[in-house]
Amino acid sequence: MTKIISIIIPFYNEKENIVSILSDIKKKLFNSTKYNFEIILMDNHSNDGSDEIAKNEMKNFDSIKYFRLSRNFGYQSNIKAGLEKCTGDAAVQLDADGEDDPILILDFIKQWENGYDVVYGIRKNRKENFFLSFLRNKFYSFLNKFSDINLPNGAGDFRLIDRKVIDYLKVFDEKNLYLRGLISFIGFKQTGIQYDRLSRKHGKSKISILKYFDIAMSAITSFTRFPLLLIFFLGVIFFSISIVLSLIYLLLFLFGIIQEPGFTTIILIQLFFFGLIMFIVGIISLYVGYILDEVKNRPNYIIEDEKEK
Ligand code: UDP
Ligand code: MG
Repeated sequence: MTKIISIIIPFYNEKENIVSILSDIKKKLFNSTKYNFEIILMDNHSNDGSDEIAKNEMKNFDSIKYFRLSRNFGYQSNIKAGLEKCTGDAAVQLDADGEDDPILILDFIKQWENGYDVVYGIRKNRKENFFLSFLRNKFYSFLNKFSDINLPNGAGDFRLIDRKVIDYLKVFDEKNLYLRGLISFIGFKQTGIQYDRLSRKHGKSKISILKYFDIAMSAITSFTRFPLLLIFFLGVIFFSISIVLSLIYLLLFLFGIIQEPGFTTIILIQLFFFGLIMFIVGIISLYVGYILDEVKNRPNYIIEDEKEK
């Protein structure tokens, strides 16, 4: 039986890119008779007319589905929705902006046929400033060192996953989604393919730095308790130092050795500990915030409209 590959395209306000990504897919993949492709268009509540353009393009395909979320639920939830809606033997996620060349999907499929359950694209080049790439490197090395998951720096969301991985993902009911991490966590046979990322065809990135920061924090709190362990040890160390210093100062006072008022010392100690405690409270708050999201147990997304062909 011919295998089905689902291509999930998450988009938000990509009216200039939709036609070109769809025609690119058709041109580069559809002459392969070995597979049937199912296109899943995931509209994250666009408000620039992308919805009409996407629906109109459906006439050019035999197997295509369109889903529109009831509001913008974020990039990760949009992909999760796509994975839950697809029916393929494997699914590939492809951004709408043309940064990832669909031709690579054929290489992903080859590795899948070789027995790999997850084949992710690893970006060779990244056009971003020094500070961002420094933060990104630190993030990946932190996560790889202090969590159970293993993600090479540069592994993006352009990847193929096998049906069994999709089915396990459906079982996970996490609200703070970091799909790269979850897919790595699920395991089985995984591999990466290096590729050059192209430039976005039209428009600007739809994910702000703040949003990326939120995704990174979600990843850290979901996959490692190391920050909590660290502040626990810090607490133990500083508590011990405080007890020793208190005893010393008490003795110095009792023996009448302290005569200076020690104003500067007090200010410095106060400032230092105030900063430290705020930092510790900040880390705990992040975890508490994410726990709150999980406890509320709201759905990751709500579908407003769908069209199938
Ligand atoms: N996207 C989405 N929902 C969002 C933001 C982005 O579905 O809330 C889509 C976007 O239209 C694009 C893909 O996700 O197809 C990746 O986003 P983008 O290119 O803006 O991110 P970047 O490549 O800059 O990291
Ligand atoms: Mg992009």
